[in-house]
Amino acid sequence: MKPRQPVLTVFALTTCATLLCHGAKSAGERIAELEIIIKENGANNLGSHSVIARYWELADLHKKTGDDEKWYGVLIKGLRIDPFEYDRQIEAAVYEYKKGEKRLAIARLNGVAGDESMPFSAQRRLARETLRGIPKAVAAAANQPPVDFPTLADGVLPTAHVMPFPGVDETITAQVARRLADVFHCDTPITPMGEAESVKNARDVRKQAVESVVEQIQMNSDPAELVLFMERRKMALKDLETNEGKEKFAQAVLSETKNGAKEWERVNALRPQLHSEALFDQALAKFGRQNAVTVPSILGVLIITAEDVFMGGKNNFVYAAASNHKKAGVISCARFAFDKPSPVKLARRYETQVISTFAFAIGLDRCSIPRCANSQSYSIAQLERKSQSLCEFCEKDLVKIYKEKFEKEEFLYKK
Ligand SMILES: [Zn+2]
Repeated sequence: MKPRQPVLTVFALTTCATLLCHGAKSAGERIAELEIIIKENGANNLGSHSVIARYWELADLHKKTGDDEKWYGVLIKGLRIDPFEYDRQIEAAVYEYKKGEKRLAIARLNGVAGDESMPFSAQRRLARETLRGIPKAVAAAANQPPVDFPTLADGVLPTAHVMPFPGVDETITAQVARRLADVFHCDTPITPMGEAESVKNARDVRKQAVESVVEQIQMNSDPAELVLFMERRKMALKDLETNEGKEKFAQAVLSETKNGAKEWERVNALRPQLHSEALFDQALAKFGRQNAVTVPSILGVLIITAEDVFMGGKNNFVYAAASNHKKAGVISCARFAFDKPSPVKLARRYETQVISTFAFAIGLDRCSIPRCANSQSYSIAQLERKSQSLCEFCEKDLVKIYKEKFEKEEFLYKK
């Protein structure tokens, strides 16, 4: 008599396979789908941050299917976009340590363990415990300073031009220039723009705000009441077809509502928001045909403006923006002091921001090491969790960039 069990097993397997096909996608199909989504949203930009959950899902799928190398690759890409995912930072460090990349693993763990913004967090404790498990000799070797930063021959230093627009606080300009010089080992002459910001491609945010106030009022009002109000204020519905009419109407309504006067004050004070690319072009034009990209000793330019800046696309505003193609970065002072911080705290914000902005401008990839100044941050709170220096891995990449840029020219490094 044949045993019945195998038949049952076959039946069970077929059922499961059928269910899998109909109920959920296979891991392979989902991996392919996620790879497309990630590719479509670019790397290291605001778009990629919007799909960060997909990176983690993809990493987990690779882990499940036993492909550790792919898992690690996606994990690091994710950490370049969101370095504050500390559970995943620790996972990456443990894997790196096992693979023999001990310096990298220890830097990662130190980054998490040193985040003082979360003194009692479980991740910080775990990072510390993991560090304690590392033999003393190994830890000591990893904490040795890396190879010295090379100097250029004949005292020639690469240059980063710091270019403030009129109206920028001189103290901020000086702080930014000093920090850039220290971190990037370069000269940072202050080259004032001497003219106002170009409003090319600027966005009229005041007009947009007025329109939004008018829309809100229309949506939330009884039409008959609205007509009566307008008659009382000697206005007609057709006035709402022009900008002047909309402004008059918005101001009139807000003057009669609670907190309305304050809201009008805010709307009325809005100035055109400047496009970062137009600012880059304006600054680079100062160098004429020999712009910052082609003059060998110029690393790039760092623009400072007191105006509000946007980058194009859907973003509302940016604290800073950079273009690797143009070797230019811009810092906008419009929002850094939103909560009236102490001068020391404010200086630290600018000094941290300028490092990642300029690093991006000269071609350093975003860093995955937690709290490296060149890691990604999306808010002032995250900015304040970062250190004010580059990690050793970014410094090594920086040296590579300098060598490539200058070795072709006469500016050779001292051996
Ligand atoms: Zn780094």
